[in-house]
Amino acid sequence: MLYQRSSALFTEAKKVIPGGVNSPVRAFNAVGGTPLFAKSAKGAYVYDEDGNRFIDYINSWGPMLLGHAFPPVVDAVIEKTKQGTSFGMPTAIETEIAELAVSMVPNIDKIRFVNSGTEACMSAIRLARGFTNKDKIIKFAGCYHGHSDSFLIAAGSGAITFGTPNSPGVTEGTAKDTLLARYNDIENVKALIEANKGKIAAIIIEPVAGNMGCIPPVDGFLENLRLVCNANDILLIFDEVMTGFRLAKGGVQELKGVNADIVCFGKVVGGGLPVGAFAARNEIMDYLAPQGPVYQAGTLSGNPLAMAAGLAMLKEVNADKGLMNRLEEKTKYLHNGITDALNKNNVVHTINRIGSMISVHFSEGAVVDFDSAAKGNNETFKKFFHGMLNHGIYIAPSAFETWFITDALTYEDLNETIAAVEVIAQTL
Ligand SMILES: *Cc1c(COP(=O)(O)O)cnc(C)c1O
Repeated sequence: MLYQRSSALFTEAKKVIPGGVNSPVRAFNAVGGTPLFAKSAKGAYVYDEDGNRFIDYINSWGPMLLGHAFPPVVDAVIEKTKQGTSFGMPTAIETEIAELAVSMVPNIDKIRFVNSGTEACMSAIRLARGFTNKDKIIKFAGCYHGHSDSFLIAAGSGAITFGTPNSPGVTEGTAKDTLLARYNDIENVKALIEANKGKIAAIIIEPVAGNMGCIPPVDGFLENLRLVCNANDILLIFDEVMTGFRLAKGGVQELKGVNADIVCFGKVVGGGLPVGAFAARNEIMDYLAPQGPVYQAGTLSGNPLAMAAGLAMLKEVNADKGLMNRLEEKTKYLHNGITDALNKNNVVHTINRIGSMISVHFSEGAVVDFDSAAKGNNETFKKFFHGMLNHGIYIAPSAFETWFITDALTYEDLNETIAAVEVIAQTL
């Protein structure tokens, strides 16, 4: 495959954009080579500026649950655009999508829309601190909650990939209020709480981790987190930016039957436009301005185009009763195919999968937390990544990312993917 035009565009971009990209993981630094410049996408495929076609397993890092340029979303945005693109005034569609989201997600009464997952998590933490009148938070190593200061402590994917888990610019004052726990290790969490009695406002977690590869919670882990939060007046925040409206229409709360106090959304909720949201029961949400004392705002929050895309997306997810099952079946099929292809060639690996999320780790043994995820062989991953790319299959350019399965993928696409893995496995 030729990447001449992407390569030329990257050279130009680097002159005026830091690293040539507006978000670090796009840059291919972890795998080497030149990032592809996307030109268009439709259904399961993305096309680059050189005219190459790829089966897409990134899907804009999650939002495209139903495939690229999903017609109801595209139509909704076009229609809305004709009526003006932003007002800075309340609009009816904001209530419409809020009502739908509240009806789909368990245990929430009110939802506030923002412009990104980062903003959602940042605001959720401020709300939790304001509500509990406590300062410290617990996060888990390898979990990513956006790039706000409090969370850039052993954050997932981008930060791990670039080996700068603690970014310069995050002050010691901020860092000292973020306590770091081991994913899937309840004793570790209990010890942190014990050592910081009465000081912890919230525990924030990806209830199914997706930013150190895909790591589901072990049995009882979320249930036990709920119990220790109850016992210590700590709010439990589920960061469902990746899993919300994806693993079930009500997210991991529904899937695992565990209630969170605050839930964060992003990605799917915006249907591919910049949207985030956070939600909770009345008692907590009423702490937000203008009703309550915790300030949070946004000039473009609840933007009509973004709301139109999100609403069209959520309506589809809500109405399509077979969707989650189809996604899971496709993901399982891919899992089995890749397992066979790698086993035939004695490639050491572990695959994690839940619903429409899957990750391939080139290491032995279970991957249950950041340390076990970090054991993967990066050199093998690089070869695998470039091999897949050259076969027209686009997976994330980092060993710490989840693949996202979309409903637009056909079984022919999956077979093509598995066939590519079989060929590449011989070279690993
Ligand atoms: C992507 C992601 C975020 C950040 O969302 P942005 O829209 O990129 O700011 C936060 N949390 C999780 C779990 C994510 O996957």
